[in-house]
Amino acid sequence: MANGICPKCKALREMVETRSERKVKDGKGHMYKILTVTYRCASCNGFVNSRDIRVPIKKESMK
Ligand SMILES: [Zn+2]
Repeated sequence: MANGICPKCKALREMVETRSERKVKDGKGHMYKILTVTYRCASCNGFVNSRDIRVPIKKESMK
C-alpha cells in the first residue's frame, strides 16, 4: 500500500488505491483503455490524487 500526504489531514497517511478502467476510441478508430488509479486517504477517505494511464489495446495480442 502506498503512502502520501493527505491535504485534509495534512499528514502522511496510508492511501487506499482504487482502479477503474474504461474503453475509449480515438479519432482514427483505434481502441485504447484508460486506467484511472485514484488514491484516497485511509483515515478520512478524502481524495488525494489520481492518475490516468493510457493502455493501447492490440488486436494481435487478443487471442
Ligand atoms: Zn486524510
